[in-house]
Amino acid sequence: MIPQTFEYSAPKALDEALRLVNQGGQPLAGGMSLIPMMKLRLAAPEQLVDIGRIKELNYIREEGGTLRLGATTTHYDVESSPLVRSKCPLLAETAAAIGDVQVRNMGTIGGSVAHADPAADYPAALQALEAKLVLKGAKSERTVTAADFFVEAFATVLEPGEIIREVIVPVEPSGAGTSYQKMAQPASGFAMVGIAARLQRSGGKIHSVRIGVTGLSNHSYRAMEAERALEGKAGSASEIQNAAALVTEGADANSDLHASADYRRHLAVVYATRALVAALARAV
Ligand code: FAD
Repeated sequence: MIPQTFEYSAPKALDEALRLVNQGGQPLAGGMSLIPMMKLRLAAPEQLVDIGRIKELNYIREEGGTLRLGATTTHYDVESSPLVRSKCPLLAETAAAIGDVQVRNMGTIGGSVAHADPAADYPAALQALEAKLVLKGAKSERTVTAADFFVEAFATVLEPGEIIREVIVPVEPSGAGTSYQKMAQPASGFAMVGIAARLQRSGGKIHSVRIGVTGLSNHSYRAMEAERALEGKAGSASEIQNAAALVTEGADANSDLHASADYRRHLAVVYATRALVAALARAV
């Protein structure tokens, strides 16, 4: 329960943090995942670079039809931001579903995304939102889609020396309906399965359906077969049921002490149905 010794620095400027990370330091954000891993000796960084005091990483702003969230924005700030709640309610709803109030007060969107826990909540929403992530190195900056970012359980396309600087999500058009529904692991709150649904309806037909899935397999994904099945439909109970049944298509379901693969697949269909019904009810 006692971590190995490590150096600690808390730079106030992003450039300085990047210099230290480029030299092998590991970013520390809310510490909600990294500190427990260090205590269990599953991680033993020699140098921690605390990015929590860098003001230029902590913001939520609207810009050109998007919301931009600095990496150290806490789950609580996402959940409670009037801007996020009105312009991207799916993200606020997802943040509110994470863990407990202590975790939401400390944990950050950048930390959660970088950690890439296969049972984390944000990835489902970020897939459904077709979010973009800005990755910054000491001398470079690149933007990747959420779909490309998550590679495996706890593995992403982040290169050594890079940090997540910003998360970009779209401002929802008026009339869009969204919902995040999950089966929470009772002790931790992590998603045994979590489904984010996002759709629009016009002329009595559903269009632009996006469904993000987390918890089911090694990494989050978009359930494109299910999306296609619902596009152009009115959204009757049987049409939603048929689409939800496709949400596990092509995915390799995880089996662990919390849930078997069969049970997770079953949960995914149930929660996809709930998320689609709720999103449709909110689409006006
Ligand atoms: P840290 O723990 O500080 O860092 C995590 C990892 O990300 C480290 O490898 C670190 O080096 C790296 N990192 C951090 N920031 C950056 C960055 N900007 N760029 C690059 N790398 C970075 N999560 C859920 O989704 N749903 C839950 O229900 C849930 N329940 C939880 C319950 C408990 C009791 C606890 C302790 C955690 C829970 N979590 C849950 C995890 C929580 O959301 C964490 O906040 C999150 O996983 C990590 O964010 P952090 O800011 O604490 O990152």
